[in-house]
Formats: sequence, structure tokens, C-alpha cells
Amino acid sequence: AVRVKDLHRSFNKAGGVLNGLDLEIAPGEFVALLGRSGSGKSTLLRALAGLDRGVDGTGRIEVPERVSVVFQDSRLLPWKRLLDNVTLGLRSSDAALRGSETLAEVGLAGREKAWPHELSGGEQQRASLARSLVRDPQLLLADEPFGALDALTRIRMHTLLRKLCEVHQPAVLLVTHDVDEAIVLADRVIVLDDGVVRHDARIDLGTRRSQADPAFARLRAEL
Ligand code: ATP
Ligand code: MG
Repeated sequence: AVRVKDLHRSFNKAGGVLNGLDLEIAPGEFVALLGRSGSGKSTLLRALAGLDRGVDGTGRIEVPERVSVVFQDSRLLPWKRLLDNVTLGLRSSDAALRGSETLAEVGLAGREKAWPHELSGGEQQRASLARSLVRDPQLLLADEPFGALDALTRIRMHTLLRKLCEVHQPAVLLVTHDVDEAIVLADRVIVLDDGVVRHDARIDLGTRRSQADPAFARLRAEL
């Protein structure tokens, strides 16, 4: 689904931000992206989303046709009601119906007419997930989508996201600073360092259960 080859990006500073990054993500695979602040995670996501025009760089990027992005803040338009936010730009005749169904999927049934400011932060993030999913993405890019939420809401969002991924089966690239979140959610964990992939580890059920894998102890210490 995703193929990145020898990707370079720099912001007219000495030393690049992405320095020859290679990455492949299979269809339906859930990958967590970790790495220190400034290691290039958001730069990579913006490149994959095609949101980095004007940034210097080379390399090859192949992504599927339908890519959706979720950010740390919901980026709902304050002057549009929830349903209009979720279905923005969709032209199919059943957009409103699918929008309502997707709102229900994320636990916001009946809130079509609400204004974004009437929602809590967690509800706004769920609406932002709905806005992404209604587009039926083959690739979902998420940049610390739960970073601003309290611990309990975050756990609820994990459950929701896993359920949604089982239904919609997009490939996912999720940036997080939380190793436990990565282990709980992802099939695979990647660590960026200095703009290249430093670690790339598959997470099987055993790892998820024990969470005691020495590789993850090392990760925790590093991040
Ligand atoms: P964090 O965990 O803090 O979100 P990150 O891994 O997402 O960090 P990036 O946002 O990709 O890091 O930034 C990597 C480097 O690129 C940083 O040194 C940052 O200052 C620089 N950078 C990112 N965007 C720009 C920009 N638009 N202009 C100049 N420098 C930038
Ligand atoms: Mg970032």
C-alpha cells in the first residue's frame, strides 16, 4: 500500500530532517511511529499526505489513492455543524447518510447538528476520525491523535480505533510518544532517529501480552 524509497527532506538548514528514509507498509497493516521530538515523524507524515509542497527534498513516495489524515487537534471548521464538517467536499448523493452512520460508529449518533465548540476534546477527536473514515481511506495517517486527551479518554479512543480498523481495514501510520499505546494498537513499531528508520519491530500477541520484551524496555529508555 505504501512504499517510500530514499526520502530526503530539509528546511534550508545544515543537515536534513529526513535523510534517505525507506519504508513499506502493507495494505491493512497498523504501524506505530515513534521517535524523539524533532526526529522527523510529522515531516514524514506530511510528505505521505502530500502536504509538504515547497519543502526541499528528493525520493520516491507511493501511496494509495485515498489517504486521510488525523492531527493532534481535530481541525473541525468552527462555522460548520458536525455533519457538514464530516462530509465536507463529498459529492455522492448518500454523503449525508454515510456521514450520519459514521458519526454513529464513533459514538456521536444524533449529534449531526452540533457545533464543534459544543463537543468535548475527545468528542472532537472522534468527529475527526469520522471525517477521515467516511472517505473510506486505504491509508490513515494520524499524528499524535490522542496526545491532548486524558488517560481514560485515550484508552476509550484506543478501543474505538481498533474496532474501526477491524471494520474499515485501512493501513495505518500512527505517530505517538507512548510506547504502551504503540504496543496495544500496532502490528508493527517503527522508530525514527535522525530522519531514518532506526528500529522496525513486529508486535505479536505474545509481545502485546507480556509487554516485557527487552526491545521495548530499550525503547522506553530511549524515548
Ligand atoms: P515532535 O515529536 O516534536 O512532533 P517530529 O518528529 O514530528 O517531532 P518534525 O515536526 O518532523 O519532528 O520536525 C523535524 C525537524 O524539522 C525539527 O528540527 C523541526 O524544527 C524541523 N521543521 C519541521 N517543520 C519545519 C518547517 N516548516 N520549517 C523549518 N523547520 C521545520
Ligand atoms: Mg510531530
